[in-house]
Amino acid sequence: MNRIITAKFGGTSLADASQIRKAAAIIKSNPERRYVVASAPGKRFSDDMKITDMLYTCHKESIEGKDFSETLKKITERYAGIIRELGIDFDIDSEMNAIAENLKNGTSADYPASRGEYINSKIIAKFLGWEFVDASEIIFFTDNGTLNEAKTFSTAEERLLALEYAVIPGFYGSLPDGSIKTFSRGGSDVTGSIIARSVNADLYENWTDVSGMLSADPRIVKSPKTIENITYTELRELSYMGASVLHEDAVFPVRKAGIPINIRNTNSPDDNGTMIAASLPKDIKRRAVTGIAGRKGFTSIRVEKSMMNGETGFGAKLLYIFADNGVPFEHCPTGIDTISVIVNTAMFESKREIILRLIKNDLNPDYITIEKNLSAIAVVGEGMVSTKGTAAKLFRALADAGVNVRMIDQGSDELNIIVGVDDDDYEKSICALYDAMIKE
Ligand code: ADP
Ligand code: ASP
Ligand code: MG
Repeated sequence: MNRIITAKFGGTSLADASQIRKAAAIIKSNPERRYVVASAPGKRFSDDMKITDMLYTCHKESIEGKDFSETLKKITERYAGIIRELGIDFDIDSEMNAIAENLKNGTSADYPASRGEYINSKIIAKFLGWEFVDASEIIFFTDNGTLNEAKTFSTAEERLLALEYAVIPGFYGSLPDGSIKTFSRGGSDVTGSIIARSVNADLYENWTDVSGMLSADPRIVKSPKTIENITYTELRELSYMGASVLHEDAVFPVRKAGIPINIRNTNSPDDNGTMIAASLPKDIKRRAVTGIAGRKGFTSIRVEKSMMNGETGFGAKLLYIFADNGVPFEHCPTGIDTISVIVNTAMFESKREIILRLIKNDLNPDYITIEKNLSAIAVVGEGMVSTKGTAAKLFRALADAGVNVRMIDQGSDELNIIVGVDDDDYEKSICALYDAMIKE
């Protein structure tokens, strides 16, 4: 049987006509690339605006009763330029009129936001001479907003396998009432994974603007090493913690089916990129640490109570207070008489008073200490379990860099160690950890 590749191209890979030509050359160079998932045009240069952001602006202007026609005109002009340069016949005005009409009728933000990928995919399908398949007809959400996997996989499989080649817009699907719902930002990666899974692809290629997953954020560490091979679990850990090259949820659909993901660079298609699979190849050089990632903007709520360890359900009650108020916790390191809950600062601040009141009333703690401006940094690697001295090396590196570690949390699967540092020490810590754990 012939191999099938699902290839997703990101926003920068399709930002203008010359990028679309590069993507088309890649697509056409291998007939196994049968299903292409396209993003909306992204930034062409660093101060540029993504089409998706412009569409969100239109929606914001419309609900504020402002005139959105200027913003919509800028979007039309960008697409018109792409269409002209690609030399295709495409009626952009009627597409844009439909968006304007919906905005006037008070649509939710998801519909206009989805039109970036919708129109771009139609343009690309035309340029390739391929079929366009609307994501709203093959990707389904349930009423509570989760993916209806069974319906999606079977409908997409049936529809797509009947076609030899197709372009599918990323980022959205439809709700039971037929209206459009988007994934969270960067969600075209998730669409690509869903499509790969539905057609039971042999490979999910994710084409972007870097030659793979880097072992640290390239905006902080100069020329970090590329990770050639990484497991799904490590990748999920790193992307959740902020290595933003792939959407953190993109791993799930393909992982269940064992379909590997290959991150590749549209601007450097000969590079091998990063291969993501269930396990590392046997012959790979052993390593303790695969990558480092992190995020700023956390708050730690430390609750102290003597004999807490003897009080059954204390931790559960505490976490329920956060959950009941819609504030998910990120980490929860515990001591004998202390428990800390690490949460997103912006989320916590909006519920601060009620949460603190409930903790005081329901749990009667001795002290509550709140620390803001906390960054969480994860050092991730499946080899950490079997490599002695990793933690010692990590803390030595931070101490030598003069960083005060404010929180430590080791995941129970021993795949990662998470440290909390001051936001001001964030960049310095990432560089020190990279030098000590990965570079050498
Ligand atoms: P796309 O538009 O193709 O979906 P994204 O902008 O979502 O691309 O993701 C690629 C970007 O992720 C890179 O340009 C890079 O700046 C950023 N990035 C952050 N951390 C990492 C990392 N660890 N490895 C690779 N890229 C990273
Ligand atoms: N265009 C969407 C965004 O900017 C989805 C994506 O690019 O993956 O978030
Ligand atoms: Mg992306």
